[in-house]
Amino acid sequence: MKVTSLSSGSSGNCYLVQHDGTNVLIDSGLTATATERHLRSCGVAIQEISAIFLTHDHSDHLRSAGTLSRKWGIPVIANEKTLKASRYRWDKEVRVEALKQAQKSGVLTEPRGFYNTEVLPVGGVKSLGGLEVSSVPVSHDAADTVCYTFRGGGQQGIILTDLGCATEPIFEPLYHSDLIVLEANHDLQKLFKSNRPQFLKSRIASDHGHLSNEQSAKILCRVIEWSGLNHTVWLAHLSEENNDPKNAVKYMNMCLENHDIKNFMLKVALRDKPSLTWDAQDSLFQAQMLFDF
Ligand SMILES: [Zn+2]
Ligand SMILES: [Zn+2]
Repeated sequence: MKVTSLSSGSSGNCYLVQHDGTNVLIDSGLTATATERHLRSCGVAIQEISAIFLTHDHSDHLRSAGTLSRKWGIPVIANEKTLKASRYRWDKEVRVEALKQAQKSGVLTEPRGFYNTEVLPVGGVKSLGGLEVSSVPVSHDAADTVCYTFRGGGQQGIILTDLGCATEPIFEPLYHSDLIVLEANHDLQKLFKSNRPQFLKSRIASDHGHLSNEQSAKILCRVIEWSGLNHTVWLAHLSEENNDPKNAVKYMNMCLENHDIKNFMLKVALRDKPSLTWDAQDSLFQAQMLFDF
């Protein structure tokens, strides 16, 4: 199994998960053009994408899912409430686009193609080839937000962004994940000193908003204390204004060291471009090396 972060953050979230000839996207929050370009840079054509799994209906996660589904027939998989809310947004965008075109051409045309959608209930599992994707509920202020774990060839990954607090159902999947993509959205001090409107700051810091560095560090400490050091961890969905990669890593390492977890490698998934790739073969090889010595 191979996982690539194509983009992470409020300007667009999109991850490519590949296993045994099956390619899926977890979220599709970039424009269709950027998604196709980033995929090409990973050697994958958009026609090779078997499905798009949506975590929730915020635009930084679903931006191009409707367009890609209509254009290429790619199934968009999510729970019922998320699909309903997403369709509402996509339809609105299509109407606006059709009106723009009509102003130029003088002719109002019906948009072509249809959405290919499939319901995956919260807690459900979907198998595609040898890849198994499971949905796990999280606390976030969209229609019905979930995160996903994906399993293939005996390895597991989890993408856990867009949650306001840690709830019990996330821990079991975290303990068993070789790759953990974990939100570290903001530094709480920075957030409260920022010029953002008060209601927005309260929303971000609430139990239905986003994880602060401190909350993420607590989650990570619990995971490592329960299940050991053998996880690859990427920090993700960092706020451009209220966090920065260096400080997030420094703060998280300080928290880990307070729990006697030293020299733990943390990487940061970047905004607007492909930044990190995890290959299960490499981590299996590393585990084998550790075992050998
Ligand atoms: Zn988001
Ligand atoms: Zn969100």
